[in-house]
Amino acid sequence: MLLLIGLLGWILGGVINALADSLPHLRKPRLPRCIHCGAQRTPAAWLGITAWPLGAWRCPECEKPRGLRAVIVEGIAIAGAVLLHLYDPSAISFWTGLLVGFVFLLITVIDIEHRLILEVVSLPSMAVFGIIGILRPDFGWWKTLLGGLVGFGIVLGLFFLGSFFARWVALRREQELDEVAFGFGDVMLAGLIGLIVGWPGVVVAILLGVFTAGAFSLIYILITILRRQYSPFRAIPYGPFLILGAAFIYYGGAELLQAAYGL
Ligand SMILES: [Zn+2]
Repeated sequence: MLLLIGLLGWILGGVINALADSLPHLRKPRLPRCIHCGAQRTPAAWLGITAWPLGAWRCPECEKPRGLRAVIVEGIAIAGAVLLHLYDPSAISFWTGLLVGFVFLLITVIDIEHRLILEVVSLPSMAVFGIIGILRPDFGWWKTLLGGLVGFGIVLGLFFLGSFFARWVALRREQELDEVAFGFGDVMLAGLIGLIVGWPGVVVAILLGVFTAGAFSLIYILITILRRQYSPFRAIPYGPFLILGAAFIYYGGAELLQAAYGL
């Protein structure tokens, strides 16, 4: 059984890789192609882990390698699916957990590579997880929709604060600032996270995300100062941090906090 679950995770990881290659450019899926020259990939090269043993690691057209990201994403997807099944094998919680993980991993990969959270991913996910949340007996429509609204609202506030700050800096330096902390993609993502983890978990999830992102930025800035290449407005992608907070709450953190603080 676990072998089948691992296989399922592997295939889903492959689908995430293919989507992360095509969606940022086309806004729609297509069969895997080489990201360097656009040549159609042979089925042997569709999955990253088997591409090397099958002799399909390099593109036959341009000789460029398949890339480590495919292997990492497939590895995470396999481990995630297996752990999810070990943690709670009941069908509903396994399949929804798998779907949540799929969307989270896809958004993370695209945001890291392109600093982009695509509406073609977040909008359909919002619809699907909105419905799932409303149908969940422990959520219902109130906890689900309030969660989505609050998540959206908190990061919308941060988004306005960020663009206000950017305008203020631009005024003082008399030049445009093209990097803002939170983009509107992050606002949509926060709404999606709210629908997935519900009220009141969304507050903890978003705060965790914002604080880990802040801590990471601080360390990053310190390192660049020490190496004397400091540039204050090189923005980091915030999506992966928001997702980290959401994943913690969704996969067991909510129960942990409940047990510890009676939240
Ligand atoms: Zn190629």
